[in-house]
Amino acid sequence: MASGNGYSGKILKVDLTTGKFETILTEKYKSWGGGHGIGSALFFDLCEDKTIKGTDPGNVVTIMASPLSGTLAPSVAGRCEVQGIGIQAYPIGWFTRSNFGGRFSTQLKFAGWDGIVLMGKSPKQVWLNIINGEVKLQDATDLWGLNTRETQEEIWASVEPSKKDNDWTNLGQSRDSGRTTQRPAVLTTGPNAERFGPMAALIHDAGNGAGQGGFGGVFASKNLKAVSVLGTGGVAIADPKALMAARLWSNSYSFAGHHDDPAEYVGLTSFGSTPGKPLAPMQDTPEGVKSRPQGCVGCIRSCRGRTDTGQGNESQCVDFFWYDAHDVKAHGKITDAAPRATDAIQLSGVNAFAVEAATLWLEQLYNKGILGKGKAIDSNLPFDKFGSGEWAEAFINCIITQTDIGKELCKGVAQAALAWGRLEIDTTSGILPLQEWGLPQHYDARTEVEWGYGSLMGERDINEHDFNWHVYWTPTIAGLFGVEPAVSAQRLAEIFAKKMIPYNDPMAINYSDEGIYSESMAKTVAWHRHYTRFYKQAMGFCDWGWADFVNPYGPEHEGMTSVGENKFINAVIGGNMTFAEGMEVGRRIWNLDRAIWILQGRHRDIEKFTEYNYTTGAQPGMTTYEAPYTMPVFENNEWSYKSVAGRILDRQKSEDWKTLFFKVEGWDVKSGWPTRETLEKLDLANVADALEKAGKLGASA
Ligand code: SF4
Repeated sequence: MASGNGYSGKILKVDLTTGKFETILTEKYKSWGGGHGIGSALFFDLCEDKTIKGTDPGNVVTIMASPLSGTLAPSVAGRCEVQGIGIQAYPIGWFTRSNFGGRFSTQLKFAGWDGIVLMGKSPKQVWLNIINGEVKLQDATDLWGLNTRETQEEIWASVEPSKKDNDWTNLGQSRDSGRTTQRPAVLTTGPNAERFGPMAALIHDAGNGAGQGGFGGVFASKNLKAVSVLGTGGVAIADPKALMAARLWSNSYSFAGHHDDPAEYVGLTSFGSTPGKPLAPMQDTPEGVKSRPQGCVGCIRSCRGRTDTGQGNESQCVDFFWYDAHDVKAHGKITDAAPRATDAIQLSGVNAFAVEAATLWLEQLYNKGILGKGKAIDSNLPFDKFGSGEWAEAFINCIITQTDIGKELCKGVAQAALAWGRLEIDTTSGILPLQEWGLPQHYDARTEVEWGYGSLMGERDINEHDFNWHVYWTPTIAGLFGVEPAVSAQRLAEIFAKKMIPYNDPMAINYSDEGIYSESMAKTVAWHRHYTRFYKQAMGFCDWGWADFVNPYGPEHEGMTSVGENKFINAVIGGNMTFAEGMEVGRRIWNLDRAIWILQGRHRDIEKFTEYNYTTGAQPGMTTYEAPYTMPVFENNEWSYKSVAGRILDRQKSEDWKTLFFKVEGWDVKSGWPTRETLEKLDLANVADALEKAGKLGASA
C-alpha cells in the first residue's frame, strides 16, 4: 500500500491509569489496511493477557477510522470500528467488534488521528477531549449519570461554550489555522453504564450506536464516560480526480443517479436502495410525522431518517424494529409508542438487539404465566400495557436502574435466563433463541447458513447483509407479493460466482438441504469472513451499502462489488491493489482474530449452535422475523427459489461442514486452530509463536 495518502499517520494511545498519552505511528500497521485490521493488530501487540475479562483494566479497546474515513467514498466514509474484549457473549466474552456511523471517524481524521487506543483504568471518572493535536482527560463526575443526549450537550457546551448552531468555531490563532462549523463528535455511554454493562452500547449523536459487545460497559469499567473529537484538518487523497470519477461512476448505481427513473424492484438491495427508506418501518412514521433521508458523512445511500418531531432520528432497523411490531399489535398501526421506545434505548445507551430478543422472550414468558406480578419471575412491569410507549420506557428504565426484572437483565439476556433457571429449557425449546455464544439469533442458522456459520466460526452475530438482501429478503418479499424476483435464482448464482473472487464457485449460494453442508458453502463462509474483515471492517464499507452484488441500476442487475471497492481504495491511498489482494488482507485479519479467540479458549469442540437449532424446525415468527425463508437452491440440476422453512440442522453434517471449512482455511481439522504453515504464509509467524507458546498451534496435515 502507498504511504501517507488517506492516513493521518498517527494513532493516539491513551493510558487511562496514568493519564499519559503516546503517539503510535500508523506506518507500522498499514499492512492491515485500517479500521478492524489495525485494531486487531494493536490489540494483539498491546493486550498482554488475552484471557482476561472485558472489565479488567488490562483490556485494550481500539476505536479506529479507515483511510477512507472523511473522504468522498460513498457508504464508507462515516463508519468507525470499535474492538476489544467484550462482555456481552456468554460464557466467554470474546475479543469482539462493533461499528457505528455518523461523523466521528471523520472528525477523528480531521483532528489528525487514524484511531484511538484505550488502555488501563482511570482512577476517577473522566471523558477524553481531543481537539486536533491537543488531548486532555477531563473530569466526568457530573456527566456520569446523564443520558447520551445530555452528555453530548454538556460536552458540546464545554468544548465550544459560545457556539450557536451553524457558527464557525475558530480553533487557531489566525483566520485559516483551523475553523469548523461542526459540533464535537462525541461517543458516549448511557447513565451509569457500568451497572448494566453487558447491555450497554456506545452512542454518537442521536442514533449512531456501537451496540454489540457491551462496549458501553467496557468504557464505564475504565471510568471513561465519553470520547469527544473535533478536527479542522483534512484527508490527503492520492488521486483526487480518480476519487471524483469513482464517485460519479457509483452515482449511476444509486438512486441519486436515477431520481427521474427510479427502478421498480421488488425486494431489497444494498447500494441501490431508496434513501430515507431504511427497510425497517421507519418509513411508516406515526401519522402526520414527516421524515427525510439522513446519512453518515459522505453517503448517498442515506439509509436513515430524520423526522420533523426529532423522534427516532438516525435510528435504523432494530433500533426501531425492537418495538414497532408490538406497537402495531397493540394499536393497529404505528403510533408514538415505537419512536418513544427507540428514543428510550438511544438515550439510555442500551443495546437494541439484546433488548429486542429480551422483549420477544419476556412476552412469551408472560403469556405462559411464568412472568408477571406474583409469578415465578416476579415483575411489576405493566404487561397489560405491552405495546405502549409506557411499557417500553418502564422496561428500559428497569434495566438501567437495575430494578424489577432489570436486576437480572442488566447482566445480559443469557445471564438473566441463567439466574431465573430458564437458560437451558428456553434455548432448547427455542423460545429464547440465543443462537451461539449466548447471543440473540438474528438470521436463522438453519436456513440462512452463511449467517449462522459465520457467527459461530466468529464471535458474535455477524450482522452482515452481503448475501442476506439477495438470497433471503428479495425472493421472500417477491414471494409475499406473488411476483417473480427481478433476478432469477440462476442469474443470482452467476452474479455471486463471478464476484466472489478468488473462489468463484458456481454453487456458492446453494441453500438446498445438501448445499448448506457442502464445500461450496465452506468457501462461501470463508469468502464472507475475509471480505468483511478487510473491505467492510478495515476499510469501512458500510453494511447497508456494500457488498453490492445485485443492483437495480447495474447492467443486468450486477452491482459494483469486486470492482467498485478498489476504485475507491486506490484513489484514496494510491497504488493498484486488486480485489483479490484485499481479500488476502481480509484472510490475514481473520486468522489473527481466530488466533486471539484460540488464546481465549476457542476449540472446535465448543463451536456448536444452541440446542434448538438441531431439534426444532425454523419457522417464520418463531424468532425475530415473521417472513418465511425463501432461498436459492440447486436441485435436480436446476436453480430455483424455494421455501426452506422448517429445516433442522443435522448435528453430524454440521460437524462435517466444520471440517470442510477448516480445510478451506488451512486450519487443523481436529481443533480448528490455525497451523504454523498457514500463519507464516500470511506473514504471521509471531502469531504462530504465541499460539505455540500457549500449546495451541494447530497440527499440520
Ligand atoms: S448506508 Fe446508512 S448507515 Fe451506511 S453509511 Fe450510509 S447512511 Fe450511514
